[in-house]
Amino acid sequence: MKLRVLGCDGGRGLGYNSTSLLFNDHILVDAGTIQSELTLEEASKITDIFFTHSHLDHLVDLPFLFDATFESRKEPLRLHGTKHTIDALMKHIFNDTIWPNFSKLPTAEKGQFVTHVIQADNVYDVAGLRFTPIEVSHTVPTVGFKIEDDNGALIFSGDTGPVDSIWDAANDCTNLEAVILDLSFPVSEQGVADLSKHMTASDVEVELKKLKVDCDVYAFHYKVGLASTLEVQTKQLKHFGKEVKPLRHFKEMII
Ligand SMILES: [Zn+2]
Ligand SMILES: [Zn+2]
Repeated sequence: MKLRVLGCDGGRGLGYNSTSLLFNDHILVDAGTIQSELTLEEASKITDIFFTHSHLDHLVDLPFLFDATFESRKEPLRLHGTKHTIDALMKHIFNDTIWPNFSKLPTAEKGQFVTHVIQADNVYDVAGLRFTPIEVSHTVPTVGFKIEDDNGALIFSGDTGPVDSIWDAANDCTNLEAVILDLSFPVSEQGVADLSKHMTASDVEVELKKLKVDCDVYAFHYKVGLASTLEVQTKQLKHFGKEVKPLRHFKEMII
């Protein structure tokens, strides 16, 4: 699979893009950054978006996508999320107050998007790429994903504090190539990480002891302004003797 990292930070600011991972040029996981990294032609090719959870940094560019691609989109975009996430999108974003309900535009019969409720541990196949939601531990209901094709698998934790489910899935996986893991705050802000259910490098160090598979490990969700501190703390972490890498250093990778 091809992964293009449009954004992988825990907020937006100069040099920081919130989370959006583009797979095989047409499937997004989260919608924190779209228009600032894609041409209109590229954005028009997106067919599906899988959401980890309802927090703004993971969906903020979605409303603008419908504006931008209204003329060029031939088929409705498919939005996949847990019931909590889909309900939140419809109630708080596409409510005809914050933004138009594009699921009924241009016509009620054929709008700009359709919603699809997903459930943890089920497998969803989109053009040969298989997505398995995995429940994780965050302040709102959140899933990570195992994303797999015939060449390999990737596990993306989503926003989470320490959790076992990701590692159970990873250790069960026979073709795991990489794990992308929440690392949001410096070790000095452990209290904030605990409260907001994110991780520090100290948490990740403990968590990685649960991962029995030799694979690449990437850290994502650096909070705005903290990247230089967090990069140093990330690179001190090792898995099977290899440095954990900041995902923000990678624009594109083949898995
Ligand atoms: Zn987030
Ligand atoms: Zn979050």
